[in-house]
Amino acid sequence: MFIGHYAPAFLASGTRQGPPLWLGAVATQAIDLAFFSFALMGIEHYRLIAGATASNWLDLYDMPYTHSLVGAACWGLALGLVTLAVWRNRAMAAIVAALVVSHWLLDLLVHRPDLTLAGRPPLLGLGLWNAPWLEKPLELAITFGSLAFYIRRTQAISRWALPALGLLIAELAVFQAIDWFGARTTRVEAGQQGLALFAYAMVILATALVGATRRIRA
Ligand SMILES: [Zn+2]
Repeated sequence: MFIGHYAPAFLASGTRQGPPLWLGAVATQAIDLAFFSFALMGIEHYRLIAGATASNWLDLYDMPYTHSLVGAACWGLALGLVTLAVWRNRAMAAIVAALVVSHWLLDLLVHRPDLTLAGRPPLLGLGLWNAPWLEKPLELAITFGSLAFYIRRTQAISRWALPALGLLIAELAVFQAIDWFGARTTRVEAGQQGLALFAYAMVILATALVGATRRIRA
């Protein structure tokens, strides 16, 4: 699950109480932003093992602060409180907190058992990454289905709306294609973590452009 994580953000930001789209994108990937940052800093760890799952080689053996349910809830609470402080909107803050936790729930669908409730076993994960014939269409369907919902619920207010939307769709397609079909390695390198963080940043930028050129329909 990579671009599928944005689905709850597209749904939430298509509603009146929802956060700005860029904030939804930050919230739904907050846990991965933290994970790859922590991996860069040596706080959390992963290995790459050939054939770890049918979809990727990730062996995510140490991520107690980001990918435990308690950890996800703490990140959600933190981002929710920041949202409340800045926007002074309780409904929006609650939605942002829920979006952060949605990441863990979607990961639960696809990860092999490597997620935890509080940083130690039992290890949880339904393993859809091992059924790519099901996971890939499902991820595409929820991502672009929810984006279509967002588009229907909003209207363009700038002539840059279409180019911004095109950029977002292109980024989602390219980054997911790299994730699915890019060259595989068993070496863990800082470059991978940097590339992941770069991809998340580029999607946040594109969602900011889309959000700035559209508004909720009256
Ligand atoms: Zn994740």
